[in-house]
Amino acid sequence: MSATAIPTASSVAEAAERLQPEGRAFINGAYVAAIGGATFDCVSPIDGSVIAQIAACDTADVDVAVAGARAAFNSGEWSNASPSRRKKVLQRFAALILKNADELALLETIDMGKPISDSRLIDVPGSAKCINFYAEAVDKISDEIAPTDPSAVAMVVREPLGVIGAVVPWNFPLMMASWKLGPALATGNSVVLKPAEQSSLTAIRIAQLAVDAGLPAGVLQVVPGMGETAGQAIGMHMDVDMVAFTGSTEVGKYFMQYSGKSNLKRVSLECGGKTPHIILPDCPDLDKAASAVAWGIFFNQGEVCNAGSRLLVHEDIRDDFIARVAKVAAGIQPGDPLVAGTKMGAMVDETQTDRVLGYIEAGRAEGASIALGGNRVMTDSGGCYIEPTIFSNVDNGMKIAQEEIFGPVLSTITFKNVEEAVAIANDTIYGLAGALWTRDVSTAHKVARQIKAGVVWVNCFDAGDITTPFGGFKQSGFGRDKSLHAMDKYTDLKLIWIQLD
Ligand code: NAP
Ligand code: MG
Repeated sequence: MSATAIPTASSVAEAAERLQPEGRAFINGAYVAAIGGATFDCVSPIDGSVIAQIAACDTADVDVAVAGARAAFNSGEWSNASPSRRKKVLQRFAALILKNADELALLETIDMGKPISDSRLIDVPGSAKCINFYAEAVDKISDEIAPTDPSAVAMVVREPLGVIGAVVPWNFPLMMASWKLGPALATGNSVVLKPAEQSSLTAIRIAQLAVDAGLPAGVLQVVPGMGETAGQAIGMHMDVDMVAFTGSTEVGKYFMQYSGKSNLKRVSLECGGKTPHIILPDCPDLDKAASAVAWGIFFNQGEVCNAGSRLLVHEDIRDDFIARVAKVAAGIQPGDPLVAGTKMGAMVDETQTDRVLGYIEAGRAEGASIALGGNRVMTDSGGCYIEPTIFSNVDNGMKIAQEEIFGPVLSTITFKNVEEAVAIANDTIYGLAGALWTRDVSTAHKVARQIKAGVVWVNCFDAGDITTPFGGFKQSGFGRDKSLHAMDKYTDLKLIWIQLD
């Protein structure tokens, strides 16, 4: 079996020339400019060059997209199609994503800077797998008959909600979109998708692939644009039934307000995190744990919602453990994202780069020491690169321990015993994920239950697959992506009670 060949390009310009990225909105089955004609630059963080013009959709465009999505829903062509037909179309959609994997991977990489090997081996196949999972599920789930008195038949059926607004971030653009599209489309809804302004290209491209696969026009609309305009228009729209959001907690709160100010649309929120990665003194394998800690924060440039950004390590083993993490981190240095095998790419844009550097500065100012990194690098490239950074003596009250940095910055905090570790782990507004390393099965069970988070890993980090639910507690949001559970949030329960003679 040969390994997947990674598509590469000698430069962003060469890749853009080859791919000719489409930047227009996709509405009612065709690419269209924004009604007002406005566009904005799509800037590659690899070298700072402009690679496309993206349609800057606004309220009027969202209105047209929602109206088309509603008309498609009401026509029943998709919403009322047999589950087996929806299955076939979505399977073809997944297959087309795979068939175009090289193009999609390159688009993703030049758009938001992640290493091409990750785009090609993780993001694109993971997205296809997700769509396929829901395709396969849709004709295998039955509704219920309630155990009522025999004088009645009470059917509890699930119905699609109607028009779903999907608003997604830039860190895993195609994957986060797929986590929404898979279950939302499989259950028969229409979707209006707004990608993040920093990463519109793959969302725009796959809309055409969906139609090529047989999805009726209007069922999937893509409206690129700014959060404050296109995003808000979706949130405030009176005819959007539900918003599935992934992004920051701050913007998640806006969507709750939009809902309250408009039509009480349902909202599901996958927001930020500040994941504690706990190393207990009886950790079964310190090198394995150190590798998990390093990859847990430096993978995807640290732009991961569940990144293990707080290392909680027992005070007796701190120095030895940090040395082991630093050794792994030394092998995860930033490089050209277009070169196969590069392990760390560019930060998404200048704004995010400045934000992360600001946090590094704040850590220094609050008295934390840098054990590794701390600098912007590869400045000659014109792109946005920050080296893996480790703070060694952080107090959990510091800004770098409390706020989501969303970059390659690890904050190390020590503890004296398990109780203290759990207290520190939970001393955060977030509750997306947590991890612990221990040899003791009782400790593993107890601590896993005590950590207030939607996901807890034991003796591993970031494990999971499409069969497992993902999402947060507390201000990390509510509602789950992935797994069969995700289908619930795109449907409503209806009771049909039939009184028998
Ligand atoms: P973000 O700034 O919250 O943006 C997310 C989306 O919301 C983007 O499409 C954005 O549009 C839009 N938006 C921004 N302001 C808006 C407003 N006022 N009204 C309506 N929509 C608005 O997040 P991000 O910087 O893209 O992504 C990073 C965040 O996502 C982190 O907090 C991370 O933890 C979170 N995340 C969570 C998960 C999870 O599953 N829990 C997964 C991945 C990422 P524009 O970008 O075009 O402005
Ligand atoms: Mg971009």
